[in-house]
Amino acid sequence: MDSRFSWSTEYHHPTDWDQSFAPLSLPDMFAASVARKGEAPMLDFMGRQFSYVEVALGVQRVARGLQLLGLGKGSRIGLFLPNVPHYVAAYYGALAAGATVVNFSPLYTVAELEAQVEDSGTDTLFTLSAAALLPTAFKVLDGSSLNRLIVGSVAGGLSKTKSLLYRLFKRREVAPLPGDPRVIRFSELTDNDGRPEPVAIAPETDVALIQYTGGTTGTPKGAKLTHQNLTANARQVNAIDPDTQAEDRILGVLPFFHVFANTCVLNRTVLNGGSITMLPRFDAKQALAAIGRTKTTALPGVPTMYQALLDHPDLARTDFSSLRVCISGGAPMPAELREKFVAATGASLVEGYGLTESSGVVATNPYDGPVRPGTIGQPIPATHIRLLDKEDPSKDAPDGEPGELAVKGPQVMQGYWNRPEADAESFTADGWLRTGDVAVIEEGGYIRIVDRLKDMIAVGGFKVYPSVIEAHLHEHPAVKEAIVLGVPDAYRGEAPKAFVTLEEGFEVTGEALAAWLNPQLGKHERVIAVEVREALPKTMIGKLDRKALRAEAG
Ligand code: AMP
Repeated sequence: MDSRFSWSTEYHHPTDWDQSFAPLSLPDMFAASVARKGEAPMLDFMGRQFSYVEVALGVQRVARGLQLLGLGKGSRIGLFLPNVPHYVAAYYGALAAGATVVNFSPLYTVAELEAQVEDSGTDTLFTLSAAALLPTAFKVLDGSSLNRLIVGSVAGGLSKTKSLLYRLFKRREVAPLPGDPRVIRFSELTDNDGRPEPVAIAPETDVALIQYTGGTTGTPKGAKLTHQNLTANARQVNAIDPDTQAEDRILGVLPFFHVFANTCVLNRTVLNGGSITMLPRFDAKQALAAIGRTKTTALPGVPTMYQALLDHPDLARTDFSSLRVCISGGAPMPAELREKFVAATGASLVEGYGLTESSGVVATNPYDGPVRPGTIGQPIPATHIRLLDKEDPSKDAPDGEPGELAVKGPQVMQGYWNRPEADAESFTADGWLRTGDVAVIEEGGYIRIVDRLKDMIAVGGFKVYPSVIEAHLHEHPAVKEAIVLGVPDAYRGEAPKAFVTLEEGFEVTGEALAAWLNPQLGKHERVIAVEVREALPKTMIGKLDRKALRAEAG
């Protein structure tokens, strides 16, 4: 351990900071809760509840169905799903079959999905027969090496019987699907005895999840997260929450495909045996209604969600008395927003921090101690941090100066999928994960993020990389040079804006360029404007100078 940043003496979280976490696989964690909780509620979806046993039934059938297709250890199974019960069954089912799950955002364009399916070698993709998903999935099935689609349906699928999850799998009216042997209904996959072959999982080396992220450079790379990385992170977060309750009722509005939700909504709730109210996507009105109806006890979210709840007229009518804690992460939480939200709801709101490469959580403010607004709190148990010199990451930052935050701990990934060169850049020679975030450490071990080395733009909780948007801009014949920056945005924190110069002889307005560009981009990547300039700042050796433009554009 690095002695300069060992917090064992200053550490505030009331727990054994140096504790270790016994190897545990996700299927074993799930099975233990099913055995303990039985008929207790696990999921609440559109007002219907599913018990642990009911979900386990679905999980077992998915696992068996995948095995009957010849899938298991060494297979990659993709999830292209919003927050629906199918997600949970497919996730734990694929893992119980011994496979690796690959998460995809349901907002991906064909090109984004295709690139990541190809890169990860995803064999089979779960999706829904929804207009926003199925056409994209079909195009990827035809345009990539993907072998199979498994298509579920929730439309009109909510029966009044208790065994609803089972009924969802039984539905045969997913229509219209082509008579293509590569397309299988969820109900067909799960039409089996639900007795998968047991699979031996090595929690510390078997990759449970390949989770795509732009990392520090923007090229999407798959972070390899083992079973142990994910179960340790859920247990680490548990350890700093003294009021963790088996009866916790979590509001699942964060998208499940993202690692923040994976750890703080899904895995952690399953570990404790609590229940999750799932909304297919975030909607402030529905979220407020769900808080009142289900007596939500914990709400993990990104700052823009808290802002949207605060701005909604139903807020004043909502009963927040059950809500013991809100957990904000993914992007900086403005101090004023935090204060207003706490004043309006009476709930406590703690800010934490983490990244895909750390299974979700690295640090958080104390749940039961002094929160320091504007900081991300202290490292969670068993998490070591260090500040690296910004110019030379092989050295520590000079005393008292900001440095690049580096992390070691049981939640840190095994590296990127098939990207040894990215591993070499993302880890120091002695194995510290470089976060690309610049931090200072304050008295008491509170960490304050002060800057970012990576070129990422945080649009709400979503990460957008300028290089991706710049590459699109360069496909326009009139565009000579392009820089995309994050500019302040009242609602989303930051939003992308493009600055371009034009090739000689071309005349095109910024509005026209934006109208051409935006339809090609993912929802969160869309620029708020394209500004055409005579020139863009350059460095001494003539490279485009992003830093100078940022300083100039304010
Ligand atoms: P992702 O891998 O998509 O989860 O993105 C991780 C990045 O989000 C981090 O490296 C930070 O740049 C940013 N981030 C996450 N939480 C916070 C926070 N509380 N404050 C500031 N930035 C954050």
